[in-house]
Amino acid sequence: MRLSRYLLPVSRETPAGAEIVSHQLMLRAGLIRQTAAGIYAWLPLGLRVLDRIASIVRREQDRAGALEMLMPTIQPADLWRQSGRYDAYGPEMLRIGDRHGREMLYGPTNEEMVTAIFRDCVRSYRDLPRILYHIQWKFRDEVRPRFGVMRGREFLMKDAYSFDMDMDGGRASYDAMFTAYLKTFAALGLRAVPVRAPSGPIGGDLSHEFHILADTGESEIFYDAALDDIDLRDAAAPERLRTLYAMEAEEHAKVANCPVPPDRLARRRGIEVGHIFFFGTKYSAAMGLEVQAADGGMVTPLMGSYGIGVSRLAGAIIEASHDEAGIIWPESVAPFDLGLVNLRPDDPACAEACAGLEDRLEAQGRTVLHDDREARGGEKFATMDLIGLPWVVTVGPRGLATGTVELKRRSTGERHELSMESLLARFGGVASGTAA
Ligand code: ATP
Ligand code: MG
Repeated sequence: MRLSRYLLPVSRETPAGAEIVSHQLMLRAGLIRQTAAGIYAWLPLGLRVLDRIASIVRREQDRAGALEMLMPTIQPADLWRQSGRYDAYGPEMLRIGDRHGREMLYGPTNEEMVTAIFRDCVRSYRDLPRILYHIQWKFRDEVRPRFGVMRGREFLMKDAYSFDMDMDGGRASYDAMFTAYLKTFAALGLRAVPVRAPSGPIGGDLSHEFHILADTGESEIFYDAALDDIDLRDAAAPERLRTLYAMEAEEHAKVANCPVPPDRLARRRGIEVGHIFFFGTKYSAAMGLEVQAADGGMVTPLMGSYGIGVSRLAGAIIEASHDEAGIIWPESVAPFDLGLVNLRPDDPACAEACAGLEDRLEAQGRTVLHDDREARGGEKFATMDLIGLPWVVTVGPRGLATGTVELKRRSTGERHELSMESLLARFGGVASGTAA
């Protein structure tokens, strides 16, 4: 992609009203634009990131056996009257009337809708267990939308719903999602800590929030410092994380005898990026979902719901990964794999070399943002640092004379010269994974 044909409104100024660094950087790097309080348009560069986050979330849901579907954003109020939540939900719900005066709403979540769909499609125990999910926009009229996409009013969420015949099955579905969440956040380049959350009427330990530890987080977390030493990619990590102590401040305050000795009790702020919750028959019973069991009797399935804040994650990743100069995208979600800076677009040899590199890298499955604009080198480097592509290749007449280009790694700043052939070899087949 040539930058001269792209839409990338970058800015040096710190935008007014953007309090935290991720919000400032998302605006400055031309990822998003606000269109109303808590509502954002995703510009081309931002959409690429959002799509990559969503596709990692999708991949891990699929691997866990969940089935993707797509439910609409607009829902009839009647559905919510069946569960009894229509009046209870309060002013966070955006209520809409259609031309016939029917009451509708912009969905803040989908428990009612998915329960009604499952009720209408499924009759027998043979159709269970199932986990259904979708990645869809939600609307919640937050009292205080802030921090950009971190607490928006319109935001993208992955929400999954499990249906099981009995408690053993329910626990297995919950565990599958717990593990899928750890894999998802690790693949996004994040360290997410599962925090015990209030579990509602059923009790037990089947409610967790996943938090990214960051000073700008809205929640305060108390946890066993032994957590910091766990390798989240380790197969044994889920079990260890389930047993180690981690709670939000409000819940921690209710604990009479904290099992963690004071010198091992860590206290950090966290950004909630996911929440998993098992609630049994709360919606299935209220909405008349029943299936026939093997013995012929009728059973009310047990359910859980499992959310991930897909758009919030874009901000959370930046909170966790940036420096003075800008964003540092993990390779798994970067909007382009490489930046390509032409120092002298007016020099035909440079222009030709850059066009050739762009083509060949893309033929090898790499995405490239090629800065072919007539602008000063310093400005181009500053833009690349700001938008945070993992690698930047610089092409200038001096290097070209000896057939070399410069490769810089954004995360460490380390740079070295190499031939064009070794550059292409290094960023060879995508299937083999990321470049060293
Ligand atoms: P919070 O306590 O942050 O308001 P919640 O408990 O209301 O979150 P859930 O209903 O569990 O959130 O939604 C699932 C996920 O959706 C959350 O873990 C979070 O990552 C994301 N999310 C919730 N509200 C917002 C919002 N206003 N803007 C962006 N993402 C959100
Ligand atoms: Mg909320």
